[in-house]
Amino acid sequence: MELIYEIGGTGRGLDLLPECDVEVTEMPESLKRNTMPGLAEVSETEISRHYTRLAGRSYGINNGFYPLGSCTMKYNPKVNEAASALPGFTMIHPLQSEKSIQGCLKVIKDLSDDLCEICGMDSFSLQPAAGAHGELTGLLLIKAYLREKGETNRTKIIVPDSAHGTNPASAVMSGFTVVNVPSGSDGCVDLEALKAAVGDDTAGLMLTNPNTVGLFDKNIKAVTDIVHDAGGLCYYDGANLNAIMGICRPGDMGFDVVHVNLHKTFSTPHGGGGPGSGPVGCKAFLSDHMPGGSADIDKDGNYIWKKASKSIGDMKGFHGNFLVAVKALSYILSLGRDGIVKTAQNAVLNANYMRVALKDTFDMAYDETCMHEFVMDLGSLKEETGCAAIDVAKGLLDMKMHPPTMYFPLIVHEALMAEPTETEPREMLDLAVENLKKLKEMAQKEPESLHSAPHDTCVGRPDEVKAARNPVVRFVRKED
Ligand SMILES: *Cc1c(COP(=O)(O)O)cnc(C)c1O
Repeated sequence: MELIYEIGGTGRGLDLLPECDVEVTEMPESLKRNTMPGLAEVSETEISRHYTRLAGRSYGINNGFYPLGSCTMKYNPKVNEAASALPGFTMIHPLQSEKSIQGCLKVIKDLSDDLCEICGMDSFSLQPAAGAHGELTGLLLIKAYLREKGETNRTKIIVPDSAHGTNPASAVMSGFTVVNVPSGSDGCVDLEALKAAVGDDTAGLMLTNPNTVGLFDKNIKAVTDIVHDAGGLCYYDGANLNAIMGICRPGDMGFDVVHVNLHKTFSTPHGGGGPGSGPVGCKAFLSDHMPGGSADIDKDGNYIWKKASKSIGDMKGFHGNFLVAVKALSYILSLGRDGIVKTAQNAVLNANYMRVALKDTFDMAYDETCMHEFVMDLGSLKEETGCAAIDVAKGLLDMKMHPPTMYFPLIVHEALMAEPTETEPREMLDLAVENLKKLKEMAQKEPESLHSAPHDTCVGRPDEVKAARNPVVRFVRKED
């Protein structure tokens, strides 16, 4: 496909500037550039077609099935977009007086209260801009708390081997060292290994439950007790709350700090580079250290912006990505208490429906009832046919379906991790199952055609390492 610089022609740009009505002053020669800047010059029709073509090449939940595990690719109801586009929310400035943004402060307060209720926490900050940013914030909270208690010897964060990659990265970024604990053969934290890992130097544990293989850790209370008994705190990675929201709460499982991804669980589209939001919640004993500020109500019933007394400081400017908060509140209010529970139940139902329909076709990494996602292990298929997880994933592209997450979590070597969105109808799940079964048949009968898949997309198999290490992000004209 042509880039915008390659279409159009000289002089076709839209000229929207009015006639000049002041005296023209020549710019000094020394300040003038030698060559033209090389901007695209296209007519309105051309630019409209260009972006429509581009939009047609992207794929999202509104195009079709998008079962990307550990990502919660939701259908995001348009009503939430409409709410966040209201001029009262968009035409404001963060430096306006509190009096003039009472409604916006109420949005922040109501969302914080709802997240407290959903997560079992006592306060929330909406400042962090993403999940990883929330992790950093939460760990800095833990650090501030330990420092205040004089326990600077606690320098280690325990992370299970199934953790999302951002967990160990955030622990290192906040100045801790990482201790890995293995999962048992049941996919849950190995309690004996955890007991051996904790000690006087334990600052805390980072965990997600359901974990990254889609299982609810049945020993969760024992896990958090072991860490607390050793004097550490427990951090809950709540990026994907789809399976449990409205049903059980990290705070009740024994966690002290949590982040949630509004751009996964609470209806903001993600994958396009943002903006996102990763609010952090904590139990009351950590509240004084919260970042930035939070919305509160004073004795006269006015909404105010209040800083925590021993705040770790700002993690982002002002109130965080506010319009994402508007969408989340709109989503929560439009679902209501019962709707949130139903959403979680459907997420679990859809995942188990697919898991059971596929378990005679592919090995399941853990063959038991899962939460919102499940992991297939294509190790034996690879041995039998030479076709690996990546071949099946690429084959799915030719069937106009987005593949599941591949090669994650790292503890399953040929992993395909599927999270079928809770809003998918049964027919779509059936079609996905049928497609995956066909792909297994292809792997057995004509493995070569899977090795070279996809055959029907504009991009086939990019060199992913080169694309990440040497990205070409600047257009260079041929004549340059
Ligand atoms: C997505 C995700 C994160 C990171 O969130 P970002 O907003 O991408 O920084 C952390 N943990 C888990 C389990 C996730 O799925």
